[in-house]
Amino acid sequence: MKIAMIGTGYVGLVSGVCFSDFGHDVVCVDKDPRKIEMLERGEVPIYEPGLDEVMARNVEAGRLTFTGDLAAAVDGADAVFIAVGTPTRRGDGHADLTYVMSAAEEIARAMTGYTVVVTKSTVPVGTNRKVKQTIAKANPEAVFDVASNPEFLREGAAIDDFMRPDRVVVGIQTDRAREVMADIYRPLFLRECPVVYTDLESAEMIKYGANAFLAAKITFINEMAMLCEKTGADIKAVAKGMGLDGRIGNKFLHAGPGYGGSCFPKDTSALARIGQEHACPMRITETVMEVNDAVKRRMIDKVIDLCGGSVNGKTIAVLGVTFKPNTDDMRDAPSLTIVPALVGRGAKVRVVDPQGRREGEALLPGVVWTEDAYKAAQNAEALIILTEWNEFRGLDLKRLARKMSAPRMADLRNIYPPSEARRAGFEAYVCIGRQGFG
Ligand code: NAD
Repeated sequence: MKIAMIGTGYVGLVSGVCFSDFGHDVVCVDKDPRKIEMLERGEVPIYEPGLDEVMARNVEAGRLTFTGDLAAAVDGADAVFIAVGTPTRRGDGHADLTYVMSAAEEIARAMTGYTVVVTKSTVPVGTNRKVKQTIAKANPEAVFDVASNPEFLREGAAIDDFMRPDRVVVGIQTDRAREVMADIYRPLFLRECPVVYTDLESAEMIKYGANAFLAAKITFINEMAMLCEKTGADIKAVAKGMGLDGRIGNKFLHAGPGYGGSCFPKDTSALARIGQEHACPMRITETVMEVNDAVKRRMIDKVIDLCGGSVNGKTIAVLGVTFKPNTDDMRDAPSLTIVPALVGRGAKVRVVDPQGRREGEALLPGVVWTEDAYKAAQNAEALIILTEWNEFRGLDLKRLARKMSAPRMADLRNIYPPSEARRAGFEAYVCIGRQGFG
């Protein structure tokens, strides 16, 4: 199979690299020349564990190339995947389809022979039909089908998720397109990965349904955590007891500082918007968005309380700013709400993150970046664990407490048992949905 992948971001690059590892010939395209230059030098523009190795292996084998020339990549391709961004449109919360539609037009002009144009980007219901119209209008001679193939990989575990997905979803209109998609994903059939073939609209809806459901699950446990704090229950025990029920499951039941990232905020917003447009308000999703905003703001209050009612003039160490561990992605991270709020209230914030600095520097003005947790904690009056990177899970708490001028911790990921923090010399400790002290 000859595949062109349009967009080499978190989804496009991983998908392109993995398809080449399946044995297909893949050309990855991006309109950002810096990304293409890096990729051509063998460098990976994003942080994604394991990606560099699979990429190098397939470049070496001659199955994977990179270019800024979309037309050359699309010419003769059996399938062209659109994996460009669909961010929230300013003003109305809808998914911005500008990049998808302009890619579709460019593809239309470059297609030769029968081609399946596959949308991998997360797009509102009806978009694949619009892509089809756009292509037909831009190139009335084109012989093609469209397919919807939403992606479910998680940043930080993307290679494994792509190679061993829970399922692949394919929306198609013709048997011919189905055959091409089946050829592309054939290596996964050997692993008995379920493939859901369906119509375009259902495939588009599955992606939004899945993300909104997961966002609701996280938000549900975060709200339960609030109630646990008031009632003396322990959210960790509650989540464990709930999660052992097979109908509920233990995933996405970790209370924390609110969801963020490149998908949940924008996809819940887009789903709410789609509902409004169809006079079918998605009230649960809308409430999830509101509660999540409140959860993030509650974190600011927690830190202020920890600091005795004011953070003004106080030095605060923040451990982790990416929206989750094992990624450098800062899009809609809770840190972007919490850190500026502390800076705005006069705190002197020191930040440490294993991969977040490159993106984070521009997004978090007024903070000082440090190399490790101990340097960040030097003479600090509070320490916040915001992202549960592995290197923050095994900290020497005694050493940390000794370095701080006021050893106080806000463990917003519930990593450390309160008793351990107390034994290490912390005078105050707050967490999520459990009793702290101090
Ligand atoms: P991204 O912003 O990391 O990457 C998009 C890339 O597309 C950029 O490099 C951009 O330069 C390029 N691009 C835009 N227009 C182009 C064009 N006309 N030609 C060539 N390149 C072009 O985005 P992402 O995080 O990879 O997300 C892509 C899509 O996948 C989104 O719809 C997103 O919702 C969805 N998705 C993302 C994830 C995730 O974890 N990031 C998971 C599942 C689905």
